[in-house]
Amino acid sequence: MAFKNLNLIEPILKALVNEGYTTPTPIQQKAIPLVLEQRDLLGCAQTGTGKTAAFSIPIIQLLALQKQRRPGIKALILTPTRELAIQIDESIAAYGKFTDIKHTVIFGGVSQLHQTNALKRGVDILVATPGRLLDLINQKFIDLRQLQFFVLDEADRMLDMGFIHDVKKIIALLPAKRQTLFFSATMPPEIQKLADVLLRNPSKVEV
Ligand code: AMP
Repeated sequence: MAFKNLNLIEPILKALVNEGYTTPTPIQQKAIPLVLEQRDLLGCAQTGTGKTAAFSIPIIQLLALQKQRRPGIKALILTPTRELAIQIDESIAAYGKFTDIKHTVIFGGVSQLHQTNALKRGVDILVATPGRLLDLINQKFIDLRQLQFFVLDEADRMLDMGFIHDVKKIIALLPAKRQTLFFSATMPPEIQKLADVLLRNPSKVEV
């Protein structure tokens, strides 16, 4: 199995060659076609499996193929830590290098000025940690009404780190009509319950 068998567009294939990727990992082989078919996804996968590319690549492709792309944030990737948020944003920069998709990352513990300036320039894909996201939503720097894709990354760690209440507040602000991708390394009952309310007829991918 090669990336070119996954129906990916040329700008993304070129970026993957650039990154030195030759073969999709198991989660990428399973998840990319399902996301491209616009299915909701429940992914049980740890960091290191290639899950970032598994959700980022098809979202970049679906957005890049939209002819009349409306302004506003169209994809939100929520992740528990600043380190993960930065890594995901760097991955999106790499995979989307030859597309016109705009992306940025926001996280707490630093001044918000640089982040709000980036948001004002326009963003298609936003990578965020929960606290700073809610903060900037409350200050009206962020509007999620155009959202089409929602990725919840490391859901079990959100629970462990005490972010689940913030995550639920954010979910309540999302448009009902959207595609949701849910990733967790483990599935404790509270996380399973959250997945059940969040996902519509999801495909399950385990690696
Ligand atoms: P992740 O599980 O998303 O944190 O990815 C783990 C690491 O694997 C990252 O450093 C990626 O750049 C790398 N990676 C992801 N997919 C592939 C692939 N298909 N081929 C080679 N490296 C990859």
